[in-house]
Parts: sequence; C-alpha cells; structure tokens
Amino acid sequence: MKFEVVIGLEVHTQLNTKTKIFCSCPTSFGDEPNTNVCPVCLALPGALPVLNIEAVKKSIAFGTAINATVHKKSIFNRKNYFYPDLPKGYQISQFEIPIVEGGEIIIDFDDGSTKKIGVTRAHLEEDAGKNNHYGAESHVDLNRAGTPLLEIVSEPDMRSADEVIRYLKKVHAILRYLDISDANMQEGSFRCDVNISIRPEGDQKLYTRAEIKNLNSFKFIQKAIEYEIQRQTEAWEDGRYDEEVVQETRLYNVEKDETRSMRGKEDSAEYRYFPDPDLLPVIIPDEMMDEFTKIPELPDAKKKRFVEEYGIKEYDANVITASVEMANFYEAMIAEGASAKLSTTWLTVELLARLSGGITVLTSPVDAVKLGTLVKRIEDETISGKAAKDVLDYLMENELSVDEVIDKLGLKQVSDDGAILEIIDNILDANQDKVEQYKSGKDKLFGFFVGQTMKASKGTANPGKVNELLKQRLG
Ligand SMILES: [Zn+2]
Repeated sequence: MKFEVVIGLEVHTQLNTKTKIFCSCPTSFGDEPNTNVCPVCLALPGALPVLNIEAVKKSIAFGTAINATVHKKSIFNRKNYFYPDLPKGYQISQFEIPIVEGGEIIIDFDDGSTKKIGVTRAHLEEDAGKNNHYGAESHVDLNRAGTPLLEIVSEPDMRSADEVIRYLKKVHAILRYLDISDANMQEGSFRCDVNISIRPEGDQKLYTRAEIKNLNSFKFIQKAIEYEIQRQTEAWEDGRYDEEVVQETRLYNVEKDETRSMRGKEDSAEYRYFPDPDLLPVIIPDEMMDEFTKIPELPDAKKKRFVEEYGIKEYDANVITASVEMANFYEAMIAEGASAKLSTTWLTVELLARLSGGITVLTSPVDAVKLGTLVKRIEDETISGKAAKDVLDYLMENELSVDEVIDKLGLKQVSDDGAILEIIDNILDANQDKVEQYKSGKDKLFGFFVGQTMKASKGTANPGKVNELLKQRLG
C-alpha cells in the first residue's frame, strides 16, 4: 500500500522585544540564571501583568505579511498545567480569539514551482522558564519566563520533510525581514513541534497524529520526520496501527536517531482555558492598526523585483533573497557600482564559498562595499577575474582596501598594447618552429601562444587584448 504523509507545524518564535510580554524585565539571552526576574514573572502573589505593546505590534506585522486576518479584538486566556518551569501553574496564551487568524506561506521549490501552505492562526503567549539538568540535580532558571512568543500554527498541508524544511525557512525569512524575531535556532528562539500522521494514498481522512516536540535544527527535524514516517508505516503494515500510533507527544533522541513517547497528548479541554481576569481584552484602535500594518518589502516581493529590475535568474534571486542580510548585501554591492550580473556570482559563489565556521555575510571580513569595489575593478579591466579571486582570498585574511591589495600583489591588469606586444614578440621569437606550424594550419597552437603570453605576464595581461594582438601578429 502507498501512503501519503500529512504534516502540520507549530512554530514557537520569540519576539525580539527589549522587555518581557507582561513585565519590564529584559529578554536578553545567556545571563546568570534568575537575574532577569521580578514579582510578575516569578509569579509572586498579587503581582499583576501589563501587556507590552511591542509584542502586539510585531504580531500584527506578521499577520499582515502572511495575508491573515488581524483581529481588532483578541483575548488572553489562562492555559492551566503544572510544570516546574511554570511557577504560576498556568501559561498566559490566547485561545478562542488569537490576534492573527488565517493567512498563508508560499514555499518555493528548486524548479521554480511554488505551493501555498495555510496558516490556521498565530497567537501571542508567554514563554516558560527553563529546566537545566546537571546529573541528579535539576535547576530552574526563570530568565526566559515571560519572553513573548508568537505561536504560528499551520494547516496540515505539508506532505514531506522537504516541504517542512522549505516552510520553516520561509517563515524564518519572513520573521527576519520584518525584524520581529532573532529566530535563532541555537538559542531556542525559533522552535518547532511537528504533527505527523499517514494515510493510504487517495484517502482524505485525517488519522491519529503524533506530535514530535521541541525540534530546533533543520537536520534533526528532517531526521525525526523520516523516522516517524517509517515507524507509522511499519505499524500500519504490521496491523499494529491502532495500538502503536496514538495521540501522544514524542521526543526525538539525537544520539539514537529515533522518537520515543514522552506523554499522552492533552486535549485542549484538559487545559481548562478561561479568560485571564488580570488582563483586559486587547482592542486595537484604527490608527494603531494603520501604523502597525506598514511592513517592509518581503522575500517574495523582493525576489520578483530582483528578477525584473536586475534581470537575474529566478534561481539566483531565490538564493539572494533567502535572507534579508544577503539581499541587503547584494543591493549594497550594486549601489557601489558593480553590475547585477557579476555581483550575483561574486556574492553567491565566490564569497559564500569562503565563509565558514559560523561566519555570515553580516560578519564577513569582506563587506558589501569591498566586494562591490572588487567587482568594479574586474569590470573596469583593472584586474582579471582570475586575479580577483586572489585579491578576495587576501582580503579575507587582511584588513586592506581592494586597491591596496591589487598593488601589493602586483595584479594590475596590463591593457596597454605596447607592453603586451613586447611580451608577444618575445614569445613568438622564442618559438619560431611553432609559429611555422601554426601558419601551416595547426590552429590549435593559438591556445599555446595565449597561455605563454599570460604566463610571461604573470597573469596580468588583459586576455581579450592578448587574443586580439596575437591574431594581428600571426595574421
Ligand atoms: Zn519580570
């Protein structure tokens, strides 16, 4: 039997507000445990939450970006459950009326095709603290408690791990373009729960889904999904589906590359949601809505514009607009006077190949101005493309300007006819026999003369000129 995989995602992303969602404690990452806390986020009796408007603003930007309905009125609820990192005994979240409802994310495939993935809702809530385990001891750190989270819930529209990764990358890009989240997976500010089930191909019914929780790397998400598909398929084929695929929360074990059951998944009724009596409904006035729905250019629009304005290929536009930092880098190169075409190659091929060990275009020793200048020096024929690679290598290690490196390495291209002719004449004199052979029809030798001339000029002769002048001489 052939199976179809049905996947929906819940993405939890921390909004990059300076302070927490219901108090004025900082949201900074990596501080001493329990230093960024106050009576509100420690859940001391009588402390009252006050909503941070920045969290509302950033959620509205997201809703606008994905063409969702942004509710003018939304409600905060208490979601009741016990866990040591949740001192109140409930999490403040949104239930019946989330701030954002509906909308869609468009995912791109390498062949240029796209697919729409529906978004059910995106609601605001507070993050819990963190339990750190040291051998037999567990410590609770409440620095993270109260950090604003936007939980983005998708429709069960994805059919493979590949679609999941493309969806996550697009959501990630949108968050970064809007500058509403660092979306840093290593620091846990972008995490994802995967809901996954299988069904016989052609069947429209949704079967029991398992939830895999707290995945925070693309690689592990892919592996966990692949494992889970195999587990459910085998259970179905062996006639053990009803016993083994139950509504539950599973954890992915990185070392063993498998998922295992953590606990039965609660139904929403078990959380005993009710409106939080300490928080008024959120009502957004029209003027505020007008202001908060103004958002910057997004990846899809930017991609379209790059193709139209710069005449670059769709595939390259996809690569460049995948992150806002890369798109900005690219446009800064063009502003520096480099052509769109060469900038594409020098950014996506040459520079990216030289960035490693966590270095990104943002922290690259060669910034957009330098790389743009380097491209300009190829285009004004100061250096050859080959020499430019040496200049770039040197710039990655040394803090000098492009022109200083060209001088230092003696790579300035020679385009002066007289200087090149002098080299050519020497080469022809020294190879009279080959000149005779060429003249009697051995055309292939032309490449030999070009090579010798380039070599004698230590790669600095303008190759176009060398070809032109050699043709004249051998005429
Ligand atoms: Zn606090």
